[in-house]
Amino acid sequence: MDIIALEQAHTAGTYPKRDLALVRGQGAHVWDADGHRYIDCVGGHGVSILGHCHPQVTDAICQQAARMVTCPGIFYNDQRAALLARLAQITGLERAFLCNSGTEAVEGALKFARLSTGRTGIVATMRGFHGRTMGALSATWEKKYREPFMPLVPGFVHVPYDNLERMERAISDETAAVLVEVVQGEGGVRPGSGEYLRGVRELCDERGALLIVDEVQTGFGRTGRWFAFQHHDLRPDLLCLAKGIAGGVPMGAVMIGPHVQGIHSGVHGSTFGGNPLACAAALASIDVIEAQDLPAQAAEKGAYLLEHLSAMDATVIREVRGLGLMIGIELRTRVQPYLQALIEEGVLALPAGPTVLRLLPPLTIEYADLDLVLAALDRVLAVDPFSNGGDEDE
Ligand code: PLP
Repeated sequence: MDIIALEQAHTAGTYPKRDLALVRGQGAHVWDADGHRYIDCVGGHGVSILGHCHPQVTDAICQQAARMVTCPGIFYNDQRAALLARLAQITGLERAFLCNSGTEAVEGALKFARLSTGRTGIVATMRGFHGRTMGALSATWEKKYREPFMPLVPGFVHVPYDNLERMERAISDETAAVLVEVVQGEGGVRPGSGEYLRGVRELCDERGALLIVDEVQTGFGRTGRWFAFQHHDLRPDLLCLAKGIAGGVPMGAVMIGPHVQGIHSGVHGSTFGGNPLACAAALASIDVIEAQDLPAQAAEKGAYLLEHLSAMDATVIREVRGLGLMIGIELRTRVQPYLQALIEEGVLALPAGPTVLRLLPPLTIEYADLDLVLAALDRVLAVDPFSNGGDEDE
């Protein structure tokens, strides 16, 4: 079977494809159909916190698949009950709405914020990315994602990230919520300062708005803490989770704090949300993150990468940024040719906008693999700026 030709013939065509058919994964490695191995710093766009096919998660999925896959939210379920309690314990937010993706988590949070406050306004940030469904898209900043789909949901404004003064001017008594990432991911791997994020919290308190923190990309240990808001002593009212929550099985969650009111039967729902299969995978995944202290591993390995990348002598590098194992290398030119060159070196990496090279490896990645990634980057980035390459959206 010619995988690439077949997929190319029938896919909707929404993704900027790479010329690579991946058929197997184990830990931080993936293999293509010809048996070539790659170190995976894409990690399913940051999903692969534990690496591919972690045996404990695989086991939980297999066992639950044989027991019960689907159980709608109108009934109680053992896996769901256990997961809800576990999520409350690790986030400090007592209640959760379970869904199936990041964009759905954001949609849920936006609806709950409007419901709770009776207000309509949402303040989001420039370079913020929150998903592709209409509500989440309305909060997403990048023009090329939004413009083909106008008109979007009314009531959304965007202010510069990490700028408290502009945030202060944007929050009014019509604002239901402010929606922020602790580290902007798709927007270029840009960590916000603690002063800014705590300032936003204070402004929300002052003006009766809720604070929604989008940790779809930063959650579950990625940045060196269980959740990135913990770096800054932040207290979200609503917390959006997805990606790494269930070891690769599609799942999302909105964690709900005590100031969110008015949520009652019928106001929101999801057929697949909180299905026992995803819940079992999430429980196993959270167990592994805890048992192996993956947040601490992310902090150490991320510091190791940042130290070596910062010392790299390559004129093409403008800046290196990151928190834990969420790393962005801002280049002086387009990133696309470098991503292609890395594939030839056996390393898969991501863009974050047109000029940022992003690394989201599994938190379980071995130091030997990190050294191989650094060596490959050293070779690839030593080449002086390529001519204009294509742009890749994720
Ligand atoms: N929010 C953030 C911060 C993200 O990084 C993403 C995806 O990259 C989303 C939301 C959307 O998640 P999904 O692709 O699962 O809908």
